[in-house]
Amino acid sequence: MSSTAIVSASDENYQDAVKAAVPLLRAGEVVALPTETVYGLAGNAFDPLAVAKIFSAKERPSFDPLIVHVAHRADLERVCVIPEDIQPTVEKLLNAFWPGPLTIVLPKHPDVPDLVTSGLGTVAVRQSANKIFRAISKELGQPLAAPSANRFGRISPTSAGAVMRELEGRIPLIVDGGACSEGLESTIIHLTAGEKRPTITILRPGPITKEMLQNFGKVERPKRPRDGSAPTAPGMLPSHYAPRTPLLLIENAADFRPQPGKRYGLLSYTGEPGKGYVSLHRWAAMETLSPGNGKLPEAALRLFHLLRKLDEAELDYIVAEPVSEVGLGVAIMDRLRRAAAPI
Ligand code: AMP
Ligand code: MG
Repeated sequence: MSSTAIVSASDENYQDAVKAAVPLLRAGEVVALPTETVYGLAGNAFDPLAVAKIFSAKERPSFDPLIVHVAHRADLERVCVIPEDIQPTVEKLLNAFWPGPLTIVLPKHPDVPDLVTSGLGTVAVRQSANKIFRAISKELGQPLAAPSANRFGRISPTSAGAVMRELEGRIPLIVDGGACSEGLESTIIHLTAGEKRPTITILRPGPITKEMLQNFGKVERPKRPRDGSAPTAPGMLPSHYAPRTPLLLIENAADFRPQPGKRYGLLSYTGEPGKGYVSLHRWAAMETLSPGNGKLPEAALRLFHLLRKLDEAELDYIVAEPVSEVGLGVAIMDRLRRAAAPI
């Protein structure tokens, strides 16, 4: 692959994008598409060669399974088999949150290639709310396997420009649908029937928060191995979403001990002098997640974009302020912790 084309699209006008993307996808190619969470690198989920191209363009290890996106709810039965005991809960969750940023892990249909699920007996399924994504998937008539359109372990892209910086020359086409409206990857859950109420395990926190899921069952986070050994569930790799510049997530201001002569940049929550870490140091650069009062949805939306900006600011270190771990703050802190983990 030598050059990567970009075609522009909007919610009102996406015909050119459909015309450019669908023939490529039919031919077993991969295309970067906007979703409401982050940009995805999409390929026909039933075509193992297309799926292999997703892994190779991203340099993603084959043990990390992909999310499958369905255009219609009816397509669910093509990709998974919903156990009877959780069927009513799945139905309620889909009515509440689909199309939208909720991914559910369900037993896989035998037709889904093993490469998609990394050999697991389960498949992660989602229905994107992005109009452009859905129009392309409907026209293709196939579910799309689509992980985030970044190289493995790097920051997820929330704009077409960010995809270009990650995958230029590796994929034939990027559909530019503008900035993503959520900016953080989908919430991933797993369900078990339970005796009285179903249990909803949040495998990856995201825009659909614990608080939003609590009406549908008992919500829990997976237990992490105590000995610090490798996580058993996929999607829980400690080091992920990482900028190239080392990121320090400083949970207490007193722990910040800058080395002389080094350039530190701040990822601030509100950017207000006297609040957070704004006045803690003479920062070589500063970006603000949610100027003024600080709003978590705005912070989530801007997180990856601003991390990418700081990564390009020729700093020695990026310092991130913690945000409060309620609602969307849980997903933001999850991404910051993984970005900060040593590689
Ligand atoms: P990405 O789309 O790049 O954000 O990655 C998809 C995430 O979904 C990865 O972190 C996977 O580990 C997770 N995932 C995909 N399939 C499964 C599955 N069957 N069980 C648990 N997690 C999954
Ligand atoms: Mg990803």
